[in-house]
This record gives sequence, C-alpha cells and structure tokens, in this order.
Amino acid sequence: MKISGQSIIGFHSASNAGPSFGATNPRTGESLSPDFFAAGTDEVNLAASLAHEAFAIYSLISGREKGKFLRAIAAKIEGAVDELVERAEQESALPKTRLQGETARTCGQLRLFAEVVEEGSWVMARIDRADAGRKPAPRPDLRSMLHPLGPVVVFGASNFPLAFSVAGGDTASALAAGNPVIVKGHPAHPGTSQLVGQLLRESVQDCGLPEGVFSLLLDSGTSVGVALVKHPLVKAVGFTGSHNAGRALMDLAAARPEPIPVFAEMSSTNPVFILPGALRQSGDDLATGTYASLTMGAGQFCTKPGLLFLPENGDAATFIDKLGKLVAESRQFNLLTSGIRSAYQSATARRQTEPGVKLLAARRAASDDQEFGVGAALFEADSQSFLRNPELAAEVFGPATLVVRHSTRAQVLELARKLGGHLTATIHGTEADLREFSDLLAILKTKVGRLVFNGFPTGVEVSHAMVHGGPYPSTSDGRSTSVGSGAIFRFCRPVCYQGFPEATLPDELRDSNPLGIWRMLDGEMTRKPTTG
Ligand code: NAP
Repeated sequence: MKISGQSIIGFHSASNAGPSFGATNPRTGESLSPDFFAAGTDEVNLAASLAHEAFAIYSLISGREKGKFLRAIAAKIEGAVDELVERAEQESALPKTRLQGETARTCGQLRLFAEVVEEGSWVMARIDRADAGRKPAPRPDLRSMLHPLGPVVVFGASNFPLAFSVAGGDTASALAAGNPVIVKGHPAHPGTSQLVGQLLRESVQDCGLPEGVFSLLLDSGTSVGVALVKHPLVKAVGFTGSHNAGRALMDLAAARPEPIPVFAEMSSTNPVFILPGALRQSGDDLATGTYASLTMGAGQFCTKPGLLFLPENGDAATFIDKLGKLVAESRQFNLLTSGIRSAYQSATARRQTEPGVKLLAARRAASDDQEFGVGAALFEADSQSFLRNPELAAEVFGPATLVVRHSTRAQVLELARKLGGHLTATIHGTEADLREFSDLLAILKTKVGRLVFNGFPTGVEVSHAMVHGGPYPSTSDGRSTSVGSGAIFRFCRPVCYQGFPEATLPDELRDSNPLGIWRMLDGEMTRKPTTG
C-alpha cells in the first residue's frame, strides 16, 4: 500500500493543500517519509456531512451486515499485518512482537463486536405489553431498545498505534452500535493511521456501505480536532490521551449549542496496595512483578502502577531495595514522541523538588542513549507529604513510580480515601490481610472501575466483563468502559415506542422476536415471542 500523506474522506483522498508535517522515528530521531498534510475546514465539513448522510442508511443495517463489515476490517488488517507492523515500529519504536500482539488485539476486538451485533441482544429490548384492564388507567404498549447516536469522532491514541487508533476499540464499538466514524489521526503515527484507514475504506466499499461510514482526518495540531468536536453534525466523541486534552474536549463539547457526550479516557495512577502478609510471603516476586508492570510499554500504559502503598517495616525495605536495583540497572526506554519525553523529563525533575519526596533509584543515562530515550525512576514520599500534595497522585506518563509508606491501618485507609478517580486499584494480600483491611476494598470500590487482587493492572483483557473506566479524572464518565464489549453502550441511547403497530416496529421489538434475541418481557428476560 502507498502512504500518500493525505486524509481519507469517504471514498476519496483529501487535497494536499494544508500545512505539512512529518513522522519521526523515536529511536533514531530521523524524519520518516512521506510528508503528511493537515486537513482543512472544508474537509472537516465534507467528512461530517458524508457521515451524517451515511448515518441514515448505516444506522438501519442489520446486525449480520454490521458483523460482516467488522469481520472484513479484521481480515484486511490481518492480510496487511507485516506492512502495518513495519510502519508502526518505525513510528513508535515499540517492539515488533508488541505490535504484532496489538494487531491481533485489534482484530480480536473487531470480531468480538461482530459477535455481539450478530447475536443482537445488546440492544436491550424491553417490552411492557398493554393492559387495557389496568385500573385506574389502562397501560399502553411500551417497547424500547438502544439506537445509535450519529457520527462519532474518535481521537487516535499515541500509545496504542493500532488497538486504540484508527480501527481500535473506540472505532469498533462506535461502528458496531451503528454510527459512522470520523477518526482524527494521532500525529505520532500518521503513516500507520493512513494504512489502516485505507483498509477501512476498502472494507466499506467491499461491503457496499455508504461512503461516509468512515473518514480519517490528519493534523499535527488541535484545529481539526476542535472543529470536529464543535461540528453540529457530530454527535459523540471517543478519546484517549492526556487529562488536559480530554478536559479541553469535554469543555468544548459542553459549550456547544447542542452539547454532546465525550468519552475521554484520560489519566490514572493505578494505586497498588501491598499488604503486610503478602509482602512477607512474596516480597521478592512482587518487586519483580511490579518492575515488569511499571516498565511494560516503557511505562506508557494508562494502567501503569504509578503509586505503591507499603507498610513501614523491614519487608517493605527489602522490597524497595530489590525494586530500586531493577530500576537502576534497567535499560533505556524509548518514549513515543518528543513531547511525551519532555513531559516525562519535566515531571520527574519536578517530582524531585516536591517537599517530602526522595528519588530512591534512577537509571543513569548511558553514552549510547537513543533519541527519545529516558530512564526509569523510583520515588518515595512520606504519607503526610502525599496527603498534603495532590500533585503526587498525578500521572507521570513513562517508567516512573512513587512509593508511599504508612505505619498504621488508619493511615492506609486515610490514604485510600484521599485518592481521586483511577482506572484500577490493586490489592496484594493474604486472606488474613483481607480480613484485617476489609474496609480498604469498600473505599477503593468507590474510586476505580477495576479492582485487581494479587495481580498487576497492566494487560487489559478485551472481553465482556472488562471495565476500563473509572470516576473522573480517570475518565469523563465513570459509567462507561472503553475496552470490552460494554464499550458499545457509550455510543447509543434508548428510544421507546408507545402504542405502535407491529409492522412499523424494528425487528428487535416485534411480537414474533424474529431475531431470537434476549428481551425483557413484562419484567422477565426471555427469548420467547410476546404471544403464545
Ligand atoms: P494528548 O496531548 O492528550 O493528545 C491526544 C490527541 O488529542 C492528539 O491528537 C492531539 O492533537 C489532540 N489534542 C490535544 N490537545 C487538544 C486540544 N486542546 N483540543 C483538541 N485536540 C487536542 O496525548 P499525547 O500527545 O498522546 O501525549 C501527551 C500526554 O498525554 C502524555 O505525556 C501522557 O501524559 C498523556 N497520555 C495518556 C494516555 C493514557 O492512556 N492515560 C495515553 C496517551 C497519552 P495533536 O497531537 O495533533 O495536537
């Protein structure tokens, strides 16, 4: 496939009249060809109006047709895996094995959503049959189900050039729900974005779908993203990235004459509580496991353990020694962009100047250090300083973490209560620990979307039960997940039909239940028809 550097608008390529920008190899600092061209206002308007037109048709196609489309995208990505991995490796410096895994995850996500829409029960059909004899007033026939929202704008994330980018989880879930998607490509991997965008466009064509079902707009600044979020024909936004950008998009969407939902997955520090019994039993393994989780993907995972709560005792000292050694002896980690590297460098430098914070270990720079390279870092803060300074709970994107030690049970609970919203919280403990710290779980449940027991927060399974979300500021809406089949519910809304004749109802709500889906009939789940 050829990378032209142009945005993809429906079945066409945009002009190359906009300002140009380039991709950079984070390992070498070299510019990668070709040049890319930022989309302009006319192209934003065209993509939005094509998406609007496509919605009228695409929102009505059957689950089987949507499934076929999602499977076609997965097959095309699989057919081009070597090319995609090659380009993504150049643009991200992520190892090829990781990118191959990410490609498989991307295809797995698409197929998971294909299964969900083919099966069909996800629309949450509910039927309350009419009751003409009800006193004091008859009950009308009421039938409801989920319908898609309209064109969705998806911001590709820098840290997952495939699984959270052009054909990633946000796109798959929005398409599965029946919404056209306009992706704002991330400038850190424009070539990978364009390759995947071409495969998506071909899938739309092969499946005979309207052209506005998918567009990809490129830009190296914020103007295209801002114009898309403000566009009156856009009905929802999916985003993964920094708190500042996510919050800016939330505010922008809320300030529109017609506010729209923004599902932003922003920043999370993923607190880990290692309780005394677990530390005594397996401190060494826990140090190794923590190091692996902390440095996985160069610490550029939204689920990286960035806060470790430990008791003030000898076992904790041994754990810290081991973790410190691993950090000091670690290799250099390449970050994805120069912006992410300078954010990491200034955050770690600032952290050293915060009152009550010590740098316990850091990987020293070496002569062969590479372009966007940084070293891992381990910090420690005393609990009073942590409680006083909210900055210490903020995400540092990259391979750094902060240890906070506590000396009493009451202090652990106070530290937990002080936490804001995060994606995950982890407890390492024995059964005795769990009994002693039972209130900890109750507190953490109010703070996160996923609780991990005796495991590590990195490695987010794509499945039905997964929750990758959490209270603000980890996401803009803690009622949602951006990973797993539950992500589909972000991009739809319930509509109730009152008193409509059978022939006018969607298949999902018809008496005979022609799709054989699970429905709530007069309060009970069943696949039976409403009559007989
Ligand atoms: P970012 O700054 O959040 O940018 C993500 C996307 O949003 C980019 O396409 C960016 O466009 C766009 N954007 C940024 N600010 C905007 C605004 N005010 N209005 C409209 N669009 C805007 O993320 P990043 O560039 O990937 O990395 C920067 C930092 O984000 C990292 O250091 C890290 O702290 C955080 N991050 C967090 C996660 C996570 O999973 N929690 C993931 C990735 C990044 P342009 O780049 O074209 O300006």
